[in-house]
This record gives sequence, C-alpha cells and structure tokens, in this order.
Amino acid sequence: MLVDNPLEARILRRGTQRMTGPGRSPEKPARMEAPGGTTTRRPAAADSAPPVAGLTARILELQRQVGNQAVTSRLRHAIAPSRPFEPRCTTSQLMRDGDLDAGAGPQDASLPGGVATAPSPSPTDAEAARVAKLNADYDAAVTAKDWPQVARLLNAYNADDIPKKLALLKPADIQALDAAAQGSYDRVHLFIVQPVMAAVHDLAGWKKLPPGDQSILDNMLGGATNKLSQSVRTALGAQLPTLQTQSEGDQTRALQAVITGGGALPYLVTDTVSTPQVEHTLSGPTARKGFAFDGKTADANEWVVKFKDGVSIPIVAPKAPTPGFHNHTVQETADALGALPKASRQLITRVLLNPVTNPQDPFWAGQYRTPNFHSYMTAGAAGVVTIYPDKASAPLPGASDMKGRVVHETGHTWAYKTWGEDKTKGKWLDWKKAMDKDRVSVSGYALADVAEDVSETLVAYVTTKGSPANDEYRKIVPNRFSMLDTEYR
Ligand SMILES: [Zn+2]
Repeated sequence: MLVDNPLEARILRRGTQRMTGPGRSPEKPARMEAPGGTTTRRPAAADSAPPVAGLTARILELQRQVGNQAVTSRLRHAIAPSRPFEPRCTTSQLMRDGDLDAGAGPQDASLPGGVATAPSPSPTDAEAARVAKLNADYDAAVTAKDWPQVARLLNAYNADDIPKKLALLKPADIQALDAAAQGSYDRVHLFIVQPVMAAVHDLAGWKKLPPGDQSILDNMLGGATNKLSQSVRTALGAQLPTLQTQSEGDQTRALQAVITGGGALPYLVTDTVSTPQVEHTLSGPTARKGFAFDGKTADANEWVVKFKDGVSIPIVAPKAPTPGFHNHTVQETADALGALPKASRQLITRVLLNPVTNPQDPFWAGQYRTPNFHSYMTAGAAGVVTIYPDKASAPLPGASDMKGRVVHETGHTWAYKTWGEDKTKGKWLDWKKAMDKDRVSVSGYALADVAEDVSETLVAYVTTKGSPANDEYRKIVPNRFSMLDTEYR
C-alpha cells in the first residue's frame, strides 16, 4: 500500500512562550579553596567587618581574566561537600586552566596563586561588593562609550545577565560594542548575534559534548532564516532557565536529546516557498459524468494545466461542492503544481479536488488516537494526488503551505517510483545511512518513518532552493541533501 499516511491538517504547535526564570546576579565566587584542599574561613568575629581592601578588586580581576564561569564552577567543585574533592580545583590551578571557560580571556601570570589564603571577608559581603563594583565599572564604561572596556566587563557577567544588559543599550551602541568585542571577547559577540547559542555554549554540559554534536547543534541553532533553527532556538531558549540549574551530565543529555529527540523540531517543514513558478496555462473544462472520486461518484469538470516545460496535468473538480465543506480552487491547485520541480511534477498523472473527506479518516483517527482526524492531501505510487475538502469553518492552508504539502506528497510518489516499493533495500538503505550520519531530521513528522523523512527533507530541499535557508538546511542534513543532488532530477 503506497498511499501516504494522511497528514494531520491541524498542525500541532508546541508552546512557544518563553519561560522566565528569576533574575540572577553575576555568579558567586563562593568560598575559596586554599591550595592543599582545606577550606579557609575567616574568624566569626570579623563577620561584620568591611571587606579587606583590594580583595574584591582582585577577585573581580580574576574573574575577568579566566572567565566568571570557570571561577565559579571550579570553586563550587572545590567546596561543595556533596561532590568529591578534585585536587585540580584550586584557585591556583584554576588560573592556569582558565582557558577551559567559554569566556576566558588571556591569562595573567601576575595574579597571585594564593588569593585564597589571603584574609577572607564574608563571602556575602565580598560578593555584594564585587557585584557592586562590577556594575559601577560597567555603567561608567557605558557612559564613557568605552566599548572595548564594556565588552571586557560584560564578559564577566552570567549567561542570563548579559542579555539583560544588552537590552538596555541602543542599537547603535550595540553595534559599536559588537565591533569592539569581535576577536577579543567573542562570547560577548555571540550573545549579541545569537543569544540562545551563546547561552548554550556557556553551559558546562555543552563542553562535555563530542565536537561532532556541538557542530550539529550549532548548525541547528545558527540558521538565520530557516524555520527549523527558529524552532530550536525557541525551544532551547525556553529550556535554558531549567537547563542552567541542572548538573553537567543532565545538560549534556538534554542537549543530545535536542539532536535526536525531535522535541525542538517544527512539526512539519513550512518554510516560505521561494522557488520560481513555472509558467502555465489552464484549459477546459471538459464535463465528466459520474466521475469516481475517493468515496463518492459525482459529476465533475476536468481541467488541464499545461506547463512551459512540457508537462500537462489534469485537475478534476466536482461540479457541485459538498455543502458545508470547502476546497482549493483549480487555479490555486495549478499554481501549487507550478512550484514543483520537474522531477516531481512529471510523475503526477492527475489531481483530484475530492468532494468528500477521506473515507479512511475514521481509521486514521483510531490509529493516531486523534478524534476528528482530517486528511489534507494524499498521493500514491500511481501519481494521483487527492486533495480533500475541509469543513467550511476550518481555514484551508495558504498558498505556501499548500505548495510544501504538494512537494511532500509527490515526494512519496517520486521515492516509490524511483527507489522501488521495498524500503529495506537499495537506495532506501542509502538514505537510512545518510539519516544515521546526519542524525538530525528536518521536522518532527519526518521521524515517523523513512518515507516521511524523505518527503519532509524534499520539502526543505525544494521549497527553499535559491534562498539562504537552503544552505542552512544543507548544513543541518548534509548527507541527505547531497544524496538528493544526485537522485532528485
Ligand atoms: Zn507523507
């Protein structure tokens, strides 16, 4: 049976509302670990004393040099009683290993290794003073429009504070800051151009990902124009406040689930169709008495759409539409067919604008446990595309979505005719290998089955041709696109 699983017309949409977490101040350096592994505490009597002069500035300097996150995570490791003590997590070591942090700047050998052994003020007081000084320095640098200094200071803030600071700057100032940040504080640059990716890069779990996974995620997150990247940014952006509180291992697993789990993907590929229309003329109609539509025999009109590339396709529509239902017009259908590449269009033998809904809808409703399941469009190996009417109260897909769905459905016809009906051999296996290499799929629906993956990938491949989104998708699923380069002609 080659008829496609009919697509649910009601496209499932995930909530896109961004969760907001409580604002957090720049991360705390917590207590200091003395070299040798003992935690130093200052005498309780000194608790109310002001911070020792110079120490706050020194901690601040340390954070600017090695990156805030490195300081915090190393110190947290070193003092947290629930975690095993790691000898390398000492402040002196930390300064040598500072390059492990995303925000690490050049190391400074002049900073003493024994910071932790200096008389220590209350961590709370020291932290408050540190944040106050950082904020004051930052504000002064912004007022002075000293952008290299703003970039340097901004780099000392947390992933969730940087966007807040940036939101307060004027567009022209952000541009100047970005120019100053590039090359010396690329973390700040990334927060300006791609804040979700920057925040993900700041996660400790990100650094534990294999480089291949990092590059896949960057390609998923980084596309400026394609809808998959938008969807992944929205989903990960919403997850960030939770992710930031999780352990390194949980973060790594959550990020890997974004690659293979499909939860962050759009349900269908619905990028705006950018392919040029092939010119066509419409002729007819010819009356067809007692035409056998899917599920109903009715008098019909047959039109023929003739394309400039020589392909001709009959479109059959009922003379009288079913009351209470509506369907696309013959003209809309001809236009949608004109967006197809010849590889697909030449396989279509006929398009039916069916008078009644798919007789198999109740079956699919049970199969998918979706009451009122509605098929929008189907296509079989014989090349007949059937478009079903919907209740007049339900809007029909717009022109761009309709074109995408025609590419999807005729993609099934193309794949079965070109690669055969046995999905366990030949080119189907090559496609599965390409899927394994790419790991990512272009939509949630593509995960249903290898045939759906082919069709959804074709939608991305065909409908974005000639636009930047096409290059973005090629980075996301390179092995599938390269197979289509040779197969889909
Ligand atoms: Zn399908």
